[in-house]
Formats: sequence, structure tokens, C-alpha cells
Amino acid sequence: MRTQVGIVGAGPAGLLLSHLLHLRGIDSVVLEAHSRDYVQKRVRAGVLEQGTVDTLVATGLGDRLLREGLVHHGIELRFGGQSHRIAFEKLVPGRAITVYGQQEVVKDLIAARIAAGGRILFEVSGVAPTGFDTAHPSIGFTHAGLRQTLECDFIAGCDGFHGVCRPAIPDGVLTCYDREYPFAWLGVLAEVPPSSEELIYAHNDRGFALHSMRSPEVSRFYLQVAPDEDVASWPDERYWAELRARLETVPGWHLRTGPVLEKVVAPMRSFVAEPMRYGRMYLAGDAAHIVPPTGAKGLNLAAFDVGVLAQALAAWYADGSTGLLDAYSGTCLRRVWRVQHFSWWMTTLLHAFDGYDGYDRRLQRSHLDYVCGSAAASASLAENYVGLAHV
Ligand SMILES: Cc1cc2nc3c(=O)[nH]c(=O)nc-3n(C[C@H](O)[C@H](O)[C@H](O)COP(=O)(O)OP(=O)(O)OC[C@H]3O[C@@H](n4cnc5c(N)ncnc54)[C@H](O)[C@@H]3O)c2cc1C
Repeated sequence: MRTQVGIVGAGPAGLLLSHLLHLRGIDSVVLEAHSRDYVQKRVRAGVLEQGTVDTLVATGLGDRLLREGLVHHGIELRFGGQSHRIAFEKLVPGRAITVYGQQEVVKDLIAARIAAGGRILFEVSGVAPTGFDTAHPSIGFTHAGLRQTLECDFIAGCDGFHGVCRPAIPDGVLTCYDREYPFAWLGVLAEVPPSSEELIYAHNDRGFALHSMRSPEVSRFYLQVAPDEDVASWPDERYWAELRARLETVPGWHLRTGPVLEKVVAPMRSFVAEPMRYGRMYLAGDAAHIVPPTGAKGLNLAAFDVGVLAQALAAWYADGSTGLLDAYSGTCLRRVWRVQHFSWWMTTLLHAFDGYDGYDRRLQRSHLDYVCGSAAASASLAENYVGLAHV
């Protein structure tokens, strides 16, 4: 089997790359370990930056997104018995976020690729990228019981944090930077209309809580818990009671609860591998970097990477120029590190840390007061949250 770009992973990064390449007349094959049904139902991110929405709309994927996505012009920070709104419409006019589930983005992308005759092979195993330090890379894989080789000009490693592409790069090439946080998020998806029109980030001595949503009928909640927390020790009643204790801290605000559709523990980690390229292997999305979800950035960063990569590959196919390909890693890493900082900052600002004494907590509280009380500090949060246009 032969293609121009062999893509490992049918998450947002791999699928969007395949779509963007197709629009530039470049052929690709996507190899995915899971079934189509599985990837279309995997509930994860849900907050799209303005730039991500603009890319999806400009490339013909805006139909359902514009109809069903919930456009938000602000978020709420809740602490000290008060709520403070970060008003995007005043602080970053013309820019907003859109709440639209990652699984919906994935569904739209798969439908578009299949309608255009794109090749996505689901349920492949034994994926083995090789030869990417030569001009003739290839990817070995097994599909429907048959061992095959996909020959290509380039390999895009879009296979997430636990994929095979990054580990296939020889030892000593990549430098990895990481941070583990001493807590995790216990996320619940529930069939209940949101209790608030906008996301609520709650700072509380009991721990952080987030009220989010996926649609007018489905809410998403997160509680800060211990990193090794067992979901089984959180029956629904305990979950709702703790969420109430952390969120119902302002007069007159009440949490609506409903049937729980899913309950998962998500680890909190920051990670960057540099450079994001080795020979003809290009890493994109979670394969190269991850952020704690506090800043809602992972999916958006994946979309940014593949936008840069698609443009660089198009330049190479147009006239053999390597300038943009050579600049790929540096271009992406500038935004990656901005987003790393923002996600780390939001995480350290809002969570309760074991071992924090009165001094640490007062610093945290002072910083929250500053962020909400100063127009400049609010604008900084807002422009990072909706996605910086210039990095
Ligand atoms: C609980 C949670 C909440 C989140 N909330 C947000 C948010 O609000 N906003 C935001 O922007 N981001 C959020 N994120 C992060 C976001 O989901 C990820 O950053 C995003 O999925 C990255 O996309 P990706 O395509 O790079 O990787 P992935 O989505 O991980 O896709 C990688 C694909 O590669 C496949 N694969 C892996 N190994 C192989 C292999 N060996 N062979 C073939 N295929 C393979 C996987 O099955 C998968 O389909 C959240 C993440 C979690 C876990």
C-alpha cells in the first residue's frame, strides 16, 4: 500500500491533518487502533478556541458545529463566596469559545473524510513506523488479520500520549520535559441541563471543581481528587454532595443533578517532547505534548500543530521547499510553551495543594483577586483562554 503521508491515529490531530491535506490535493492513509464506533464515542475535550472554530468552518466542517455548538462569551471564577465573570466580549472583542464535544468534531471529520473517499483503517494492530531517517519511510501494521506495509513520503505521529511514534524515535534525539500534579480530576457526564450558562471554575479549600457542559441537555463536571482515586469509592450521591459543597458557595445558586452517563478519573500532567520532528517523522498533538485540562487547550493545540504541518507539507509537494518543514517544530513549540504556561498557571491558581499553608493560600487568593479585579489581568486570562491569535 502506498500514500503520500502515513498518519498514525484517528484522533482530532490525525483526522484533521488528513482532511487539510486532502483539501491541498495530498493523499494520506490514517491507521487507527480502535474501532470507528469507539473513537466517535470517546468523550474528552469540549471547549474550542476561536482559531479552532475558524479552521473547522473555513475547511467545510462548520455545518453542525455552527448549528449545535454553544458560543460562550465568558467564564466564571468562583471563590471566597463570590462569582466573578471574565467577560470575553469586553476584554477580547470578537473572540469567544465554542462548547462542542471532541467526539462531535471526530464524527464530523470521519464523515468528511469518508465522503471524500479518504482511507481510514480502523482496528489496526502492531503499528511499526520505520525508515523515517531515510527518504523512504514506511509503516508496518496488521489489519483484518493481514500484515501489511504502508509506504509513504512522510509519517505523521498523531497517536496520542501513549502511542508508538514518539517511542520509535531513537534514544537521545528527544528531550522531554514533564510535570506530574499531585491530584487528578474525577469527571462526570450527566444527563441534566447545565445549571449555569457559562463554565464555572471554582476555587475552594475542599479542592477545585468545574461546572461545564456538552449540550443544552448534557452537563460535564469535574472534581479535584487524589491521583490514585478509585471511581468505585465515589457513588453518585457522594459525588453530587461534594460538588455542591464546592460549587454552591454563592447565594441563590443551585446545582441541578441527573442520571450519570459516565464517571472517569483523568490524570493531570504536563509534558513536552522536543523537537517535534525526527527525519521524516512529524509528531503532532498529544503525541508531542500534553497539558492538564484546566486551560481547555489539548484539542486546540493538536489542531494548531496539524494546521502548521499541512501547510509545510503542501509547500514541499508544491516545489520541494523544506523551509516550512524545517521550521515546523520551532513554530509549534512557541505556541506549545505559551499554552503549557497558561495551563500550568490556571492549574496552580485554582487547585488546593496538600502542604499549602496559610501563606500559600493567601498568595493564591491574592492572585485570584488580582485576576478578577484588574482589567489587564482579566484580559490576559481572556486572551489566553480564547486562544492567542499571534503566537
Ligand atoms: C478528561 C479530559 C478532558 C479534556 N478536556 C479538554 C478540553 O476541554 N479542551 C481541550 O482542548 N482538550 C481537552 N482534553 C485534551 C484532548 O482531549 C486531547 O488533547 C486531544 O484528544 C488530543 O488529540 P490527538 O489527536 O493529539 O490525540 P488523541 O485524541 O489521543 O488521539 C490519538 C489516536 O491515536 C490512536 N492510537 C494510539 N496508539 C495507536 C497505535 N499504536 N496505533 C494506531 N492508533 C493509535 C488512539 O486510539 C487515538 O484515536 C481533555 C482530555 C481529557 C482526557
